Amino acid sequence: MRMPRVALAPSDLSDAAAARAAAPGPVAPGARIRIGGDAFQHLARVLRLSRGDRFAAVAPSGEEWQLTVRSVAGDYLVAEVTEVAVPEVEAGVAVTLVAAVPRAERMDWLVEKATELGVREILPLRAERCVMRPEPGGGRLARWERLARAATAQSGRVRPPRLLPACSLTEALASCPGPWLLALERAGTVGLPAAVSRFKGCRRLVWAVGPEGGWTAAEVGTAIAAGAVAVSLGPRILRVETAAVAGLAVVMAALGEMAPPRGAEGVAQAAPPWERTAAAAAVADDDLGGRA
Ligand code: SAH
Repeated sequence: MRMPRVALAPSDLSDAAAARAAAPGPVAPGARIRIGGDAFQHLARVLRLSRGDRFAAVAPSGEEWQLTVRSVAGDYLVAEVTEVAVPEVEAGVAVTLVAAVPRAERMDWLVEKATELGVREILPLRAERCVMRPEPGGGRLARWERLARAATAQSGRVRPPRLLPACSLTEALASCPGPWLLALERAGTVGLPAAVSRFKGCRRLVWAVGPEGGWTAAEVGTAIAAGAVAVSLGPRILRVETAAVAGLAVVMAALGEMAPPRGAEGVAQAAPPWERTAAAAAVADDDLGGRA
């Protein structure tokens, strides 16, 4: 079984531990960390870890700690850090996903999948035709942050994406720097893969997806005036969450973020059977050609 892995929120740690854990470096092997909150519930109540059990945790600083449980109390446990590492799993390009908020469970899915794909920031957009209009500091933000932390731990990432306060497209254009790619299901746009390849080498990129009702003409006008590139995902209309996640995968691939991890153990690859068949077919065709 894989070693249990949790992402620690600052609220899972005592104030002093949270302060130390927020900055990379100061937690050294041997340090004892008191863990409460959601992480404690998960480790002690769900996974039923007890004294001597080992687990991994992603600290708020992005470090990965290996820990051993030393004691379990009523609402906290104490674990000793045995190893500290900073794995290279975060994307080199900071992609901000600006997404008009779809209905509840669809947004949950979007947050989880975008996190797995390596998104750096998620901005729940209050587009003009949005049905869901989350408030800037609403309870749903806390829920999405929790989902993002869980997906961070599950996917082996070390830093959860930042959930930015919900806002309008105009506000988002002003507050999110970097080239903007705006998904627009209309002719006259550029295909997403071609559009991203123009931004290879940049450190930041914004990927924006509109609501089910589509962007208003005013929103498109504002975005284009601000320099956004209108891009297509093809002739099929995708739902918000599909467009967001599929587009993010294309962006990551085009930016080279889907290459195998460095230092990973290799796999010997054989020529795939369909290529062998194709080669045999070509020889047969040649034979036919020779006889004709
Ligand atoms: N109301 C529109 C569809 C909106 S789909 C209609 O019926 O035509 C929701 C959002 O996903 C859109 O605002 C757009 O940003 C994005 N999207 C969906 N399919 C797309 C495509 N084929 N190309 C570009 N963007 C797309």
